[in-house]
Amino acid sequence: MAKQPPTEIIAAIATAPGRGGIGVVRISGPELSGLAAAFGGKASQARMAQFARFRDGCGNLIDEGLLLYFPGPHSFTGEDVIELQGHGGPVVMQMLLARCLELGARLAEPGEFTRRAFLNGKLDLAQAESVADLIEASTAAAARSAVRSLTGSFSKEVHALVERLIDLRMLVEATLDFPDEDVDFLVEARAFERVDAIATELAALLDRAAQGSLLRSGLHVVLVGQPNVGKSSLLNRLAGEERAIVTDIAGTTRDALRETIQLEGIPLHITDTAGLRDTHDEVEKIGIARTWQEIERADVVVRLVDVRAGLTDTDAAIDARLPAGVERITVFNKVDLANRPPERSEADGAVNLYLSAKADQGVDLLRAELLRVAGWHRHGEDLILARERHLVALRTSLACTRRALDNRHALELMAEELRLAQEAVNEITGEFTPDDLLGVIFSRFCIGK
Ligand code: GDP
Repeated sequence: MAKQPPTEIIAAIATAPGRGGIGVVRISGPELSGLAAAFGGKASQARMAQFARFRDGCGNLIDEGLLLYFPGPHSFTGEDVIELQGHGGPVVMQMLLARCLELGARLAEPGEFTRRAFLNGKLDLAQAESVADLIEASTAAAARSAVRSLTGSFSKEVHALVERLIDLRMLVEATLDFPDEDVDFLVEARAFERVDAIATELAALLDRAAQGSLLRSGLHVVLVGQPNVGKSSLLNRLAGEERAIVTDIAGTTRDALRETIQLEGIPLHITDTAGLRDTHDEVEKIGIARTWQEIERADVVVRLVDVRAGLTDTDAAIDARLPAGVERITVFNKVDLANRPPERSEADGAVNLYLSAKADQGVDLLRAELLRVAGWHRHGEDLILARERHLVALRTSLACTRRALDNRHALELMAEELRLAQEAVNEITGEFTPDDLLGVIFSRFCIGK
């Protein structure tokens, strides 16, 4: 990528905040051999772990640890990179970082290391995004999918499609340029069949991407129900052994009303409406307002009732406030106490499930129902952890390819549609991506990445 490389030296603490066995400060810039020496390293020992004593400006020891020096272009960013591996305490890391700033670095912005890697052609945009996705993955399935994109398997498929679109455009445009050639020439070259095949492939890729995006964003589920109907029991039953890997992110307090569990690798963000009660407590009121905001963007509402009591007035009151049009599933729990078999029934488009959370009867009915609502049909290991912009690009490209086929008797239009189809898929890997979009993508990274 022939873009001007950034020249400022950037530095950041690359490990997570808090205390740990080691902590890493990462530095990137055009020429860092002097900086390596200032931290007690030797530029001659590139890519080797060197024991070093890290000192402040007055020569006082800050820490001792390992220094790794990666001269560009063979580094993550494509520039010179230094990693200082010290002891993982917040103060010592801050002192090391402060020393980097004294030596001429500035603080890196979120995602700036990866942004430089992209600008220097070390990664394409889809790979760069998968770095953030891998770090943020909340289930093992999402992590596996992210790492596949990181190693370039999604990009490879995108490039293969681009190549085929370019070949076709050359054929169609040659026909336009040489009026003696006519449609027969394209028929002979099987051009129309090839456009059709590309459309089929784009549709398959889009499906894998749409399924994969479920692994990313998951499904927002709201659990509604009176105390003691079995909400916690059901949540625990659903979570089973497969609790999603959710950790507290520094600086955010965990919302007690929300839990994330996973179903076949899909994160289910479950908001419990148990907290939705009348209160005069100001703090609680804020929490309740937030819960309602979450409910506004729910994909599905699971309404839990005790099968012996049926729906109550309070259920109806909460139900009336739920957003119109959201999918609803009513679960009649505790069938074991009512001597009923677990079952699913549907009346006027409303789904009713009879089950027992405690006795583990019929809980699979709910799992299947949630997956159905999510639109999940399993694809094994080849899912693409797509972002919304990838889906948009693939949809646009597919629509253009189909229109190209519709315009087989108006070759100028066909050529233009193929051009647009190519441009859309190119956006995925970043060949045609405007700068402001790059800003948005990289600003969502964490600092030090
Ligand atoms: P929550 O207040 O809605 O979260 O309800 P809990 O999950 O705490 O359950 C309330 C009580 O009902 C507990 O004693 C559970 O053991 C019991 N319970 C929950 N589900 C069932 C069920 O399916 N069958 C039976 N027999 N008891 C259940």
